[in-house]
Amino acid sequence: MNIVAIRGAITTENTKEAMLEASQELLEAILTANQIDKKDIIQITFTCTKDLDAVYPAVAARNLGVTEAALMCMQEMYVKGSLEKCIRIAVLCQSEALVQQTVCHQYLKGAKKLRPDLGRFTLAIDGPAGAGKSTIAKCLAQNLRCTYIDTGAMYRTVGLFCIQNNIDYTNEDAVNSVLSQIGIDIIYEDNAQKIYLNGVDVSTAIRTQEVAAAASKVATYKEVREALVDMQRKLAATKSVVMDGRDIGTVVLPQATLKIFLTASAEERANRRLLEYEAKGMEVAYDVLLKEIQERDDQDANREVSPLKKADDGIEIDTTSLSIEEIIERIAHLLQERL
Ligand code: C5P
Repeated sequence: MNIVAIRGAITTENTKEAMLEASQELLEAILTANQIDKKDIIQITFTCTKDLDAVYPAVAARNLGVTEAALMCMQEMYVKGSLEKCIRIAVLCQSEALVQQTVCHQYLKGAKKLRPDLGRFTLAIDGPAGAGKSTIAKCLAQNLRCTYIDTGAMYRTVGLFCIQNNIDYTNEDAVNSVLSQIGIDIIYEDNAQKIYLNGVDVSTAIRTQEVAAAASKVATYKEVREALVDMQRKLAATKSVVMDGRDIGTVVLPQATLKIFLTASAEERANRRLLEYEAKGMEVAYDVLLKEIQERDDQDANREVSPLKKADDGIEIDTTSLSIEEIIERIAHLLQERL
């Protein structure tokens, strides 16, 4: 379990009812956005500006069933010209999924202006190979003027390192033993993600079937996943991102603003891959692609660590008969609603 601290603030009127309602709204927003269970709260500190004195906001926490945490109410230091009638909150809690860099602070109503830098979002897009994740995530990131993070490229880079260095990627111990030699850098040039392996741009080299198969295998190893998930969370910690992969909504960003799970039939996905390869002038048989997709689906969905699956609060979109524009519009609309 990790210990994390989550901040928030809200403005209210100075009546008992309004203060309790605002405190409850703020606390519930913090718990929901970060998927925190009440029993995991260790301590909550509330402060009120000097113009709020109708009730202790901690009463709202007790009313919500937070009975074991240590609660404190204090008066916020008065600074000339500061925001009036504001309740601030700091929640200390334990969490399996969160680390401090990924917590989602909540500034509501008039308090939004206290932290304009936190008006950011995270959009998680998961799904099997060929479901359209990267095309859609890239377009959305461009439209929303935020960063696109392709996590599959990181697993591919580990796979590529093994192939290049004759490491048997089907042997978990062998891969674990070289993990510290694999330096991955993600660099954004002209808004496109470039991936470097030990200083060399491998953005194109990782796009082969051989590398995809190696990536799918190394992605089943716990140590590989831990190292890459840590990197992915750090990349998403300070900015708005659209991140695609297999475990983004379930493991990497469980507090994502919106979680989408894209699907399509295996035949349709193999067809899309075929067109992609053809566009690049590469010749691959449809049957080979279909088999490869089915094998990867099977490996990704049935592995023990972070298997491919829809998050409980994720929204599934079957892309089989939808155009890219239709899917993008649907997701952008859903995100707008959340924000
Ligand atoms: O998405 P892409 O095809 O580039 O991913 C390559 C492989 O990396 C996938 O088949 C999957 O096994 C693995 N992967 C993963 N978790 C992610 C992203 C990719 O396990 N978040």
